[in-house]
Amino acid sequence: MTDYLLTGGCLCGAVRYEVTEPPVSASYCHCTRCQRRTGTAASANARVAPGSLRIVAGEELVREWVPEGGAAKCFCSACGGALWSKDRDGLPAGVRLGTFDHDPGVRPQWRQFVAYAAPWEPIPDDGLPRYDETRP
Ligand SMILES: [Zn+2]
Ligand SMILES: [Zn+2]
Repeated sequence: MTDYLLTGGCLCGAVRYEVTEPPVSASYCHCTRCQRRTGTAASANARVAPGSLRIVAGEELVREWVPEGGAAKCFCSACGGALWSKDRDGLPAGVRLGTFDHDPGVRPQWRQFVAYAAPWEPIPDDGLPRYDETRP
């Protein structure tokens, strides 16, 4: 048992969730899809343990977009705020770090899809491993 509790939500606050286990890992994704859906150069995501995230409010507002050959991307239909992507089993998996209410404890550990990095923002020289495509 753990008393870990991480809370978070979307931009307008209608969608609220809680995570009951420390995230497994975190990373930056520089892929084109992440640029499109966040409007930024990279998306910072935490991988949460399967089944550890529970929606506590606004579940009816959560919409998803499923790219061909990719994981569902979930967002709040009221404010458009990105929330998480799902794993193959349809469970929330890659949670946007920016949606957490406080420090999740985990830190980004690598950068992936850097081959597609935005030309207008240099990748920070932070010493993190970089992968041209997905992390092997
Ligand atoms: Zn919202
Ligand atoms: Zn991505």
